Amino acid sequence: MSDLPSPGRRRWLKNTGAVLLLSVSKVGFAAASHVVAIRIWPSSTYSRVTLESSGPLQYKQFVLSNPDRVVVDITHLHLNHVLTRAPDLVRNDDPYIKNARVGQFNKNTVRLVLELKQNVMPKVFTLDPVAGIQHRLVLDLYPAGGKSSRHEDDPLLALLEDYNKGNLEKDQPARAPLPGKAGRDRPIVIMLDPGHGGEDSGAIGKNKTREKDIVLQIARRLKSLIDKEPNMRVYMTRNEDVFIPLRVRVAKARKQRADLFVSIHADAFTNRAARGSSVFALSTKGATSTAARYLARTQNESDLIGGVSRSGDRYLDHTMFDMVQSLTINDSLKFGKEVLSRVGKVNHLHKKTVDQAGFAVLKAPDIPSILVETAFISNLEEERKLRTSHFQQQIAAAIFAGIKDYIASGAPLAPG
Ligand SMILES: [Zn+2]
Repeated sequence: MSDLPSPGRRRWLKNTGAVLLLSVSKVGFAAASHVVAIRIWPSSTYSRVTLESSGPLQYKQFVLSNPDRVVVDITHLHLNHVLTRAPDLVRNDDPYIKNARVGQFNKNTVRLVLELKQNVMPKVFTLDPVAGIQHRLVLDLYPAGGKSSRHEDDPLLALLEDYNKGNLEKDQPARAPLPGKAGRDRPIVIMLDPGHGGEDSGAIGKNKTREKDIVLQIARRLKSLIDKEPNMRVYMTRNEDVFIPLRVRVAKARKQRADLFVSIHADAFTNRAARGSSVFALSTKGATSTAARYLARTQNESDLIGGVSRSGDRYLDHTMFDMVQSLTINDSLKFGKEVLSRVGKVNHLHKKTVDQAGFAVLKAPDIPSILVETAFISNLEEERKLRTSHFQQQIAAAIFAGIKDYIASGAPLAPG
């Protein structure tokens, strides 16, 4: 490689200059920032520390060893009671963080030190305000080497790594069909997707019921029903309180060669009278109703609220997938119809037909995928029901019966 800057490199240097100027001009603006909240989200996949602040934060991050620790110096910031409480937020069962210390390092700099339980790969980034959340500085701690000992056969961590590098779609070629017939020669693979998680609570009911907790409970109940079926195998996009970006959920379904994909939600509407269950399939042409459009928009906001450092949707509307996708949508509608009719036996239906909208999580081009709105968490009566194990079990059993009906109908599954 030549030491002289190539035209490409010169362009890069120029761009770097622009970035530097930008960050210098931000300094004055950042001077008045203060931290309004700290949240720590431990999980076996990765642990996240979020500092929410009134303005953008300027930071420098580095790692030290003996003992292993991640250090973040935040300039133009002063210690306050929110920051000094950080050590109390670390949980004993956090797989990555042993403890946290915060101090005023010098007149202008607050130093946050996270002492670690294991070697990590930190990923630090900032997020702009969204949906009532102010500026955020986010530290994600992934196990070093891209593999946690607990996740040997789970592709999630590798997919998150690809996602963080912007390589997710590059590693997702069209899938070669698996030999044999699903359900006869090999198990039918079902991917369950409990919506939201971690920093993204989803909808919150009047009595503070969080959608992310309820849908995880329903998905676990559904998983244990499927687990008993000898000709089915079930996986979950998340089985803990962790934020997983929408496209990583889709990628995981494809990686595990899922035959069917079921996303589970419990939603909210501005009008507390709205109630009932509904089932959605993807639409590539726009939503079939205003309510569907509203729901798709709020669901797709999940990534912004949960916090992803890049959008990188360059591959999302890949024309190569379009034809496959429209065939898959037909199957998704049939699949949705079976589930809807079963769910209609245990709850009032919000709408009698399968609705369609551009939900990002339903975009696996070759896997029949549905999104089940179990009930409205914004409706007082349905919020109460969603908390009961009785209703959770009823909904899980209804979705399970719908899955079996669809398979029994001989309708297509994902092609391998
Ligand atoms: Zn939701």
